Amino acid sequence: MSGRGKVVCVTGASGYLASWLVKMLLERDYTVNATVRSLNDPQKTEHLLALDGAKERLHLFEASLLEEGSFDPAVNGCSCVFHTASPVIFSSSNPQEDLVEPAVKGTLNVLQSCTKVPSVKRVVVTSSMASVIVTGKPLKPDVVMDETWFSSAALCEEQKLYYPLSKTLAEQAALKFAEEHEIDLVTLHPGFVIGPLLQPILNITSEGMLNFIKKGQEIFTDGTYRFVDVRDVGCAHVQAFEKPSACGRYCLVGKVAYSSEAFEILHNLYPAISIPETFRCKKDKRVGPPHHVSMERAKSLGIDFLPLEVSLKDMVESFKDKNFLIL
Ligand code: NAP
Repeated sequence: MSGRGKVVCVTGASGYLASWLVKMLLERDYTVNATVRSLNDPQKTEHLLALDGAKERLHLFEASLLEEGSFDPAVNGCSCVFHTASPVIFSSSNPQEDLVEPAVKGTLNVLQSCTKVPSVKRVVVTSSMASVIVTGKPLKPDVVMDETWFSSAALCEEQKLYYPLSKTLAEQAALKFAEEHEIDLVTLHPGFVIGPLLQPILNITSEGMLNFIKKGQEIFTDGTYRFVDVRDVGCAHVQAFEKPSACGRYCLVGKVAYSSEAFEILHNLYPAISIPETFRCKKDKRVGPPHHVSMERAKSLGIDFLPLEVSLKDMVESFKDKNFLIL
């Protein structure tokens, strides 16, 4: 489908994932109203303004998740709103203020802006596997997680999993608001996003991945990763709008793998990346995949996940290009 003549909004446009989404939308001829927190920070805007088509069809707006009505101008006249903005922080001394409030209030603020604009046909919210997996059910090799799984906010709180709590509460708030206001809402649930970066600076997750590659630092303590490529996630966003039949939740995970498996791939691609001893030991304990995440609904959106090898290679190349990594 061509986006010619259509205006769409992307919130949190300077982020890792949203930058790819903006690029893909511009490539499909959409006019994009992109929100950023500050128009005066070139590190958050220059890479967007340099995209093909940006000069003609990218409009930047300032908006804050916590400021009521701040998304009104960006949403005005749009046929779809892609709400990606949300704090991605894994440790905080004040999780309520730093994570939960901006995630939940921000989602409601954006949806509220959408109710004021009759042109909005669909809202696509970027949720996360974090709002799927915290159920208390054990994750064993025969388990297949799917869209019927909902994280428990109580369990997130009990286990002090504040990022999953923020995404779980934000999704719950979005579902309730959308039902009450008859908004056509689709939620996307990416796993751990990897792949090349468009933005010049590291976000939390790509920094985690850089430290994983450079120092063998584990990101998830259980050593299990639900990887998905940033380009597949971007594409899923576009499809979630363009496919009239898209609805409900979509898990987006291309490959569930142990960290030792990812390291083996990295070492095979780049012998200079040596496998840390801790990962060598873990390899001996591996028995089949840790668990599965259903791809059925993602495939119905037309997503054919990129192989993990491709995502890892392209991410390493991107780190090298931006001088974050020297091999
Ligand atoms: P990111 O690069 O940190 O992007 C987050 C975006 O949210 C940034 O543009 C950030 O603006 C914006 N934001 C945060 N707090 C804000 C506030 N108070 N007001 C306005 N904007 C605010 O991270 P990302 O990985 O691309 O994440 C994008 C979305 O994907 C998030 O909803 C995240 O939960 C979800 N997700 C990410 C992953 C992953 O592995 N990366 C996995 C699943 C889901 P600034 O740039 O100004 O900080």
